Amino acid sequence: MKKTIEKVLAEGKALLKDAHIRTWALDGEILLSHVLSFSRVQLFTHSKDEISEEQEKVYKDLIYRRLKGTPTQYLTNEQEFMSLPFYVNNHVLIPRQDTEILVETALELIDRKKEFQVLDVCTGSGCIGISIAYYAPLSRVIGIDISEPALNVAEHNAKLNQVNDRVHFIKSNLFKGVPEDLKGTIDMIVSNPPYIPTDEIKGLMKEVSEYEPTIALDGGKDGLDFYRFIVKDGKEYLKSGGILLFEIGYNQGDEVAWLLKSHGFNSVGIKKDLAGLNRVVFGIKE
Ligand code: GLN
Repeated sequence: MKKTIEKVLAEGKALLKDAHIRTWALDGEILLSHVLSFSRVQLFTHSKDEISEEQEKVYKDLIYRRLKGTPTQYLTNEQEFMSLPFYVNNHVLIPRQDTEILVETALELIDRKKEFQVLDVCTGSGCIGISIAYYAPLSRVIGIDISEPALNVAEHNAKLNQVNDRVHFIKSNLFKGVPEDLKGTIDMIVSNPPYIPTDEIKGLMKEVSEYEPTIALDGGKDGLDFYRFIVKDGKEYLKSGGILLFEIGYNQGDEVAWLLKSHGFNSVGIKKDLAGLNRVVFGIKE
């Protein structure tokens, strides 16, 4: 028998709530709007409409996958970042709101009046490089990542946000595959690399540790492996006066700032996120 939207939504939310999913109400609504191709508001303005048994089945399947731990974003294949739409799947880290601080800092530092060459290292979904290209229309961005399936997602996102004429991707293990002739030509290197210490990954929320790609999280024994590589090799690609900009874990600020200083970067600074935790480190190449 067909049920109303209101009824199916209440059933979905109840299942999520009973399983102690913290965001039960929001997730229940997002998943049903996804199945019906509705906005969340339409779920309420159409609450008395009936939905088909097929749609109800699709919704319940998503609810059960959510109950097992799959993040909502991998079920809907969507995450908004910097007010832009991004496609996501389990080959990429889900873009985080904290990372918007990194992009906002990059946009403050970019000279908008000239063509600005940006390298987004460990680009994943492409969310950082693509939003920089979108909001700084004269910039040109190269995104690099070791993962082919992640680059497919990033390419899709560049088209989705209509910046694919200025954003290009290279499959590369850090700088190994980046053309030598780009050395000394880059205005900004930006990166949110994997930075979780290996032993801490299993202690993260199940949604993260079991569903998000480990290669996007694992920063080696102390979490700092990628910063060491990017500071050392990235420096050669930057122009003199070029900017290096990282997202960091809340307790990595001092060490990453020191790393930049010890490689001769000037004006090294740390920026905090909305929770007051160190989140971004930047420096300028001499
Ligand atoms: N740059 C991407 C992001 O910030 C991916 C980061 C990663 O895989 N560590 O979401």
